Amino acid sequence: MLQRTLFHLGELSLPVYSTNTVIVGSGAAALNCAEHLYRFFQERGETRPEELLCIVTAGLGAGASNCSGSDKQTYYKLGIQGKTPDTPHDFALTLTQGGCTHGDLALIEGENSLREFYHLVEKGVPFPHNERGGFVGYKTDHDPRQRATSAGPWTSRFMVQKSLAQVRRFGIPILAPYEAIALLTVGEGKARRCIGVLAVNHKDAEEEGFGLTLFNAENVVMATGGPGEMYAVSVYPRYQMGAHGICFEAGAVAHNLTESQFGLASLTPRWNLSGTYQQVIPRYYSTDPDGSNPREFLNDYFPSMRALATAIFLKGYQWPFDPDKVAGFGSSLIDILVEHERRDLGRRVWMDFTRNPMATGRLEPFSLSDLEPEARLYLERSGALQETPIQRLERMNPPSIELYRNRGVDLTREPLEIAVCAQHNNGGFAVDRWWESNVSHLFVIGEQAGTHGVKRPGGSALNAGQVGGLRAAQRIAHAYGPRVPSVSEFLSAVGDTVAAKLEAIRAGIRRAESAPRRAEEVQREIQQRMTDFGGVSRSLEGAARAVDAASRLLVEIRRDGLRIERRRHFLRQLRVEAMCVAHLGYLTAIRDLIARGSGSRGSHLVADPKGILPHPALGSEWRFGPENPALREEILEVWLGEDGEFHTRAVPVRPIPESEFWFENTWEAYRSGRVFE
Ligand SMILES: Cc1cc2nc3c(=O)[nH]c(=O)nc-3n(C[C@H](O)[C@H](O)[C@H](O)COP(=O)(O)OP(=O)(O)OC[C@H]3O[C@@H](n4cnc5c(N)ncnc54)[C@H](O)[C@@H]3O)c2cc1C
Repeated sequence: MLQRTLFHLGELSLPVYSTNTVIVGSGAAALNCAEHLYRFFQERGETRPEELLCIVTAGLGAGASNCSGSDKQTYYKLGIQGKTPDTPHDFALTLTQGGCTHGDLALIEGENSLREFYHLVEKGVPFPHNERGGFVGYKTDHDPRQRATSAGPWTSRFMVQKSLAQVRRFGIPILAPYEAIALLTVGEGKARRCIGVLAVNHKDAEEEGFGLTLFNAENVVMATGGPGEMYAVSVYPRYQMGAHGICFEAGAVAHNLTESQFGLASLTPRWNLSGTYQQVIPRYYSTDPDGSNPREFLNDYFPSMRALATAIFLKGYQWPFDPDKVAGFGSSLIDILVEHERRDLGRRVWMDFTRNPMATGRLEPFSLSDLEPEARLYLERSGALQETPIQRLERMNPPSIELYRNRGVDLTREPLEIAVCAQHNNGGFAVDRWWESNVSHLFVIGEQAGTHGVKRPGGSALNAGQVGGLRAAQRIAHAYGPRVPSVSEFLSAVGDTVAAKLEAIRAGIRRAESAPRRAEEVQREIQQRMTDFGGVSRSLEGAARAVDAASRLLVEIRRDGLRIERRRHFLRQLRVEAMCVAHLGYLTAIRDLIARGSGSRGSHLVADPKGILPHPALGSEWRFGPENPALREEILEVWLGEDGEFHTRAVPVRPIPESEFWFENTWEAYRSGRVFE
């Protein structure tokens, strides 16, 4: 049981929960952190560790971990198979080789990778092993080894469910649905410290006090995932808002926000079309908006059916869009052509598993014997030489068909509408080696923490989420200790902030009727702006215009309010305002990075009239500038200043530590607790 008291504010009495650590979110990262923290407190002699932490989440069962996946959702770990040697240092080299990744964090992700992997295995996540118990792996995108593994399409859902079962077994309180709307801090600048969270209990949102609930805590761990709803074209689960806006407002510094991943996904349901979905070489075609006038649009751009079919095949493990894989009819040319059909020609694009790519014009008929050796060999070894893509999919990955069927789509009969979707943000809030942000006692883990840079191996997001939770829990239990802060001190520190927030909510409701624009309409504007200017194809001029429009929008929202139909929809107003703050931060970083001359990198293109044309048949607006590799050595940070404006600065990448590992010294430092300092 958590300590509960009341905060009397005018005629209202708002609940206040006091504990040592509040973990916000209930994805794979949050739940794992809770498990570790419970165990560490227990190991340190706390008899009731469940009173020292709680999980506060807007949606138990929501978020990318529980709701998203792909044909074979990947978990990236240190290699542990056969004769292939691997080390944490090599792992860190892979994580950092795309650039803009701090080496110390990459090494930590390598050093703790197996601990976290086996933690998942022990919890019951069904990662496949061979008859000797060895965990075999495969190669994923941006991966020089076979470090990847998978528990099937729903790897991260298994992680959530197994972790949730542990959390429940431990009796850790889960407060749901509670949505964090502000982080409570004291102090300014470098002395700023997080002391709690203000949340709305959805169930009481219609009450006088709007369900406002205060959490008084020594530490706050944010694990609220990526900003999926910020984009119009997104494969994140619906309603995955993230909480970047409130972290910015609390003074947290973010970095690498420019480095998001985009790739081909189905729109309904939202699902990644990577791996086997592409390796079976389905037919792509486009139609008019009403579904008429089908065209084999890719055929116009490829010199032969062999080249086209191989490019589709390669998209399987070259899934995210990558400017380096455009030239020479590379697999990422397909993403550009899909974008061109949708954005420039206003057509819809489909993927059809019932048919092979169809021959038109000068392209010869599709034949499985006319593929590049890499593709042919793979299909041969997989026993997947059946006549149609759906038969090959049935052979290689039946669950990938089943999961669509469970969501009302029969791939044996229906095509999927597809687009190049926002899928993941490699960047996020900057953290130190304990996943603590620049605001002390505010930890950020999972996708909300930005530990990856321009490119990352597929599956490394899940590894990073687990390692981050472990590190935060270590720091909290071993360095900060089990203190539960006093309620009276907390209330005297945050009383005015909470009163101001309450007044802001009331003012928003008062203005709701006269506000010129509906909250949903403004949300759509933000989403479209992010897809148009912060998506897969960008330009300096476009980003600059987008920043201006975003700044104006924020001023308008704060001046005029947002229209809502009912009082209880005040949360929409808060979410849209927070999303507006977040998108301004993202766009500012995007503009400033392009202005520094970054060029096209990671998973986006930057327009350049003197640049490379992806294909001679495309218009000159598709010319893109090459990457400037010098910028791989720096990371662009962005934060909301005391002046209410976003600022950016480039900081050098921290190298991979080269310190010598000497057992006796480490043992001594461990026993004395210095390793947690
Ligand atoms: C389609 C798709 C496929 C992917 N495939 C892979 C893959 O193969 N390998 C890989 O490594 N990664 C993959 N990723 C990325 C990976 O799934 C995510 O980065 C990861 O699951 C994020 O986990 P998380 O715990 O940080 O956040 P999430 O799982 O997104 O959880 C966020 C939680 O925060 C809660 N929340 C949000 N806002 C608030 C708030 N204001 N107050 C309280 N609670 C809040 C939500 O309800 C949710 O519980 C994929 C992502 C997508 C979308």
